[in-house]
Amino acid sequence: MDFNDTPEEAAYRAKARAWLEAHATPLDPNDTGKDPLSEREDDRTIQAAKDWQAKKFDAGWACITWPKEYGGQGGTTMQNVIFNQEQAKFDLPPNIYTIGHGMLGPTIMTHGTKEQKEKYVKRMARGEEIWCQLFSEPAAGSDLAGLRSLAVRDGSDWVLNGQKIWSTGAHFSRFGMIVVRTDPNAGKHAGLTYFIVDMETKGIDIRPIKQINGGSGFNEVFFTDVRIPDSNRLGAEGDGWRVALTTLMNERVAIGAGAAATGFKTLMKLARESRRGGRPAIEDSAVRQRLADFWVTQQGLKYTGFRTLSALSQGKVPGPEGSIGKAVGAPMAQQIAAFAVELQGPLGATRDKSHTLHEALWQNSWLGSPGIRIAGGTDEILKNIIAERVLRLPPEIRVDKDLPFRDIPTGPASK
Ligand SMILES: Cc1cc2nc3c(=O)[nH]c(=O)nc-3n(C[C@H](O)[C@H](O)[C@H](O)COP(=O)(O)OP(=O)(O)OC[C@H]3O[C@@H](n4cnc5c(N)ncnc54)[C@H](O)[C@@H]3O)c2cc1C
Repeated sequence: MDFNDTPEEAAYRAKARAWLEAHATPLDPNDTGKDPLSEREDDRTIQAAKDWQAKKFDAGWACITWPKEYGGQGGTTMQNVIFNQEQAKFDLPPNIYTIGHGMLGPTIMTHGTKEQKEKYVKRMARGEEIWCQLFSEPAAGSDLAGLRSLAVRDGSDWVLNGQKIWSTGAHFSRFGMIVVRTDPNAGKHAGLTYFIVDMETKGIDIRPIKQINGGSGFNEVFFTDVRIPDSNRLGAEGDGWRVALTTLMNERVAIGAGAAATGFKTLMKLARESRRGGRPAIEDSAVRQRLADFWVTQQGLKYTGFRTLSALSQGKVPGPEGSIGKAVGAPMAQQIAAFAVELQGPLGATRDKSHTLHEALWQNSWLGSPGIRIAGGTDEILKNIIAERVLRLPPEIRVDKDLPFRDIPTGPASK
């Protein structure tokens, strides 16, 4: 493990930093930070995010690892990490491109035709359109291959009927990427096909879901006789599972990095500012004990993250051990938020910004943090990955893998 930048990495960092200083405002060191889960995605915020992405694109800082012909820089993963580390020190609009840039762009570049790459990828890099991921269904989340939305071929189109759910940002996305069943007679994984969908197509009904934290970041999406041209198919008919795996592998990397940010530094600030028994809470031995526990776990996460960075810096690809960051970081973020709410005493129960410390950041993050333990792989699924692929323990029994999909029982037998 090497904690230092190589001379080339240091030079790249200095160049990124200089550009950011010329075009953005550094974060106030006393700022407690934003709670990304409760940020509102109104038209103004979305436009600000689009403007920032276009500015980066025009200056050559967008999608650093993508090939130059598709609007990227042909740079290394390490250069991308360095730019993101520097960018995080500035006060910027929320990143509404995690799904497009982190997951869907790489999927089109891996499986798309030349026409699809030319039509979509460069515009995606510049942030002109936002993309959403239409994978989960009411009865298919962790077990994604159990999905039931059905597309039937009709001439040069496919006709799609079904429902997706938890589709982040679908209400402001122009395009979506969807996996649907095209052959119910084939095995569960074999009968799937992957498509690009224009979200303005007739028959698509997007209904935002109201969340406990007041936001409506994700949606139910209903499809009634939606026609998708066959030219929007990504990969071969029946090969949708393999294409979806590319998206899911990229999702783990894109989401895992964010989940490891647990908010420990801001918790220390809160412990100094809040009071217990007439004294700063940080002087209370029970509080100090909890802080010490969090710090120890935080250090473990930090050095596990460095191990990944070290591998990237040496040109290696991080393996399934990347799941550790989210498996540990997401529950810890929830515990930290709960402790921060507790530290505020009775005021912890209100979300009124004028009465709470840190403008209700902790209350909002406490309400939103359970979602992070579910999105992009639940705690249990991540532990299964660590057990099977890192520790090499015997795999879970998967009894329905080889049955034709239509023969898989779906509930109590009808009388
Ligand atoms: C904030 C957020 C954003 C999201 N954004 C999107 C999006 O943009 N697009 C999209 O398609 N989806 C999205 N999702 C959905 C997400 O991918 C699913 O919620 C997730 O895959 C879990 O599926 P599920 O909700 O159906 O739960 P289920 O899979 O039904 O799981 C229920 C419980 O059973 C456990 N469980 C399931 N299988 C196993 C197993 N084999 N072993 C042990 N335990 C198991 C789970 O861990 C969980 O505790 C989002 C979810 C959240 C919370």
